[in-house]
Amino acid sequence: MIAERIQRVKESGTMKMKELAGQKKAEGKKIISFTVGEPDFDTPKHIVEAAKKALDEGQTRYLNGPGLPALREAIAKRSKADNGIPCDSSNVMVAPTKMAMFETIMATINPGDEMIMPDPAWVSYEPACALAGGKAVPVTTKEETEWRMLPEAVAEMITPKTKMILLNSPSNPCGSIATKEDIKGIADLAKDHDLVVLSDEVYENIVFDGHKHYSIAAEPGMFDRTVTISGFSKTYAMTGWRLGWLVAPKPLFKAINKVQQHSITHATTFAQYGGLAGLTESQDCVKAMVKEFSERRDLIMKLIKEIPQLHCDTPKGAFYVFPRYEGDMDSMEMAMYLMDKAEVAVTGGEAFGAAGKQHLRISYATGKKNIEDGMERIKKALA
Ligand code: GLU
Repeated sequence: MIAERIQRVKESGTMKMKELAGQKKAEGKKIISFTVGEPDFDTPKHIVEAAKKALDEGQTRYLNGPGLPALREAIAKRSKADNGIPCDSSNVMVAPTKMAMFETIMATINPGDEMIMPDPAWVSYEPACALAGGKAVPVTTKEETEWRMLPEAVAEMITPKTKMILLNSPSNPCGSIATKEDIKGIADLAKDHDLVVLSDEVYENIVFDGHKHYSIAAEPGMFDRTVTISGFSKTYAMTGWRLGWLVAPKPLFKAINKVQQHSITHATTFAQYGGLAGLTESQDCVKAMVKEFSERRDLIMKLIKEIPQLHCDTPKGAFYVFPRYEGDMDSMEMAMYLMDKAEVAVTGGEAFGAAGKQHLRISYATGKKNIEDGMERIKKALA
């Protein structure tokens, strides 16, 4: 009954642990959840109000596939000003961020094509590539080099079958940030080998300590071969809105638009009015949330240092820590052990690739009290 292609794909490790945590809570367990990367803040009021107003004004019908013209304009303006991407609104497609990634892979990867991506990496890249018939080629990243995907390591993986390099900075699950040199080096490889780059920048605004985020599409000669994706979920605490975007050069845009036309048609109309308010009104809400994430990161790092069995360098962005634990227990087993013994839900590092062995992903997009209590429970369970 089930298609062969879907049998090649695993369940999402992050969504699975989230569901399991929910199930345990429903059974009456007092689970503290550090599973999915979901800000615990409410969506800022002015964004909610804009979407409500759109609903009241009857914005409940179809739009053109690429999205609301004013929103596409606002995204283009921001991509140019903040990211240095030489685009205009005709390059912008509004779509849920995860769908933007999926659509790009569907529009570019042929059966047998190889897609180079970091390991560890977010759980959905590899399955999207597999569903397109492609082969994900992991580049092992290391704690010693801040989990960055180094150009020299990428170069080693390029073969005649390579079609795409997938970049994710700031990264999920490690919180690492690609340096300007990393970006330049990867851009040179893409140009030398005529490759497409898919750059997932959904955590672009969640960077700490003055570190800088760079968009590879801004590098000379890169716009024509790069699809940049980003979105509202993490920056504006809008996970449930399913709203994001991609910026692509014309030929890629046209191909991706076909996937969108034949799948979701477009992102939800009234949600796009909320997104427009998010981008065009005051960014103070973003600053306040990033400040809070930065304080939470400092708190969780302090608490990790107090746990002798956990080791972790300070991440520079996103809202995850990816500590190594001592011993040789499988990371999924370790996550289950913590769920049962400590009533804390985390994601096993191997959900993100083989390089996640003996690591756990802890999402600290939750309140400080939860972080304190949850880490205390982990400390006791590991002791
Ligand atoms: N990207 C988030 C995470 O890694 C949300 C879950 C998902 O969409 O996979 O937890």
